[in-house]
Amino acid sequence: MTDFESVFDTTPTGVWAAPGRVNLIGEHTDYNDGFVLPIALPHTARVTARRRTDGLLRLYSTLGDDGVVELSVAELAPERVPGWARYPAAVVWALREAGHPVGGADLHVDSDVPSGGGLSSSAALEAAVALAYHDLHELSVSRPQLALITQRAENAFVGVPCGVMDQMASLCCTEGHALHLDTRDLTQHQIPFDPAAQGMRLLVVDTRVKHDLGDGAYADLRAGCERAATLLGLPALRDLRPDGLAAALDRLPDELRPLVRHVVSENERVRLAVKLLPAGRLDALGAVLTAGHASLRDDFGTSCPETDLVVETAVAAGARGARMTGGGFGGSVIVLVDEPDTDRVSAAIAEAFHRAGYAQPHTFPALPAAGARRLR
Ligand code: ADP
Ligand code: MG
Repeated sequence: MTDFESVFDTTPTGVWAAPGRVNLIGEHTDYNDGFVLPIALPHTARVTARRRTDGLLRLYSTLGDDGVVELSVAELAPERVPGWARYPAAVVWALREAGHPVGGADLHVDSDVPSGGGLSSSAALEAAVALAYHDLHELSVSRPQLALITQRAENAFVGVPCGVMDQMASLCCTEGHALHLDTRDLTQHQIPFDPAAQGMRLLVVDTRVKHDLGDGAYADLRAGCERAATLLGLPALRDLRPDGLAAALDRLPDELRPLVRHVVSENERVRLAVKLLPAGRLDALGAVLTAGHASLRDDFGTSCPETDLVVETAVAAGARGARMTGGGFGGSVIVLVDEPDTDRVSAAIAEAFHRAGYAQPHTFPALPAAGARRLR
């Protein structure tokens, strides 16, 4: 008997999986209509599902501590669903809001994407639910449309004002590639990314810290960026090019200048990275990552002592480059390292954390994996 069968006392129709992600470069650019470059991780959220005909949504997660959560699909509304169940409920709500009259289902959720670690366990869960619903209800919705629907779910139902990167990464990444995404019109290019072919490795260092201040700060940063664009008379900060930056900064109040500097320079770093990747210039990509981290630390203000320590230690120990990935205030750092230096760099990070009195981070290599898919 499967876990689904023992929880729901019936057989499932299928199993769907959607990955977490790390973003190589392009942080806090997605809600500024800018550019991002994520890869999917091999870690996935998996949803085992069966359609119901009585309008009930029954939810179970191996990570939840509240057994089966039972909701009426017709009565779903933002802020009414507490706890983890609001993520899958949000997706069902958003599908209906988008005009797809979907009904109930039994959903069993399991995931090995570290939760709250900046690796986007939330978007993985949303994408797996969206794809399961898409197939169970025989919808015909494109992946980018599903990404927009799940982003709306997280924005309007869960209440997190995220951009579209995480959902697009989970639904549209492909194995062996980074996804070069224009978040304004969702134009995508799959860029081959194979660090092993260059004798390198991409490590993910999950610091396992999450500073509470992150929740409100994210919304404040987003609001600051939007205010700056309005003051400059631009649709979004993406429309400010580097050659106009100095003049634009002169027109802005002090507190908005570093935000704008970050967004403009970060979009340039994505442009540079997408030239370096196909040329096999991963040696030069390292410096782009480290410069991106400095910008998050000094201008955008979203790094924290733990992520700064990983970056400093990794680079001092000979890594090609490193940066915090994800929303910030904790979470994970990516480290690009020459294969033979992997153990030395990992050991240096572990030692530095020990000396600082921090709990040990979780370090693992990341190969660009496949996007959301049906498993069976
Ligand atoms: P991140 O997306 O960076 O991992 P978030 O705070 O955005 O962090 O999302 C984490 C939240 O997503 C968890 O607190 C939980 O509510 C929900 N979640 C993610 N994965 C699961 C899961 N497998 N089962 C239940 N809830 C999950
Ligand atoms: Mg998230």
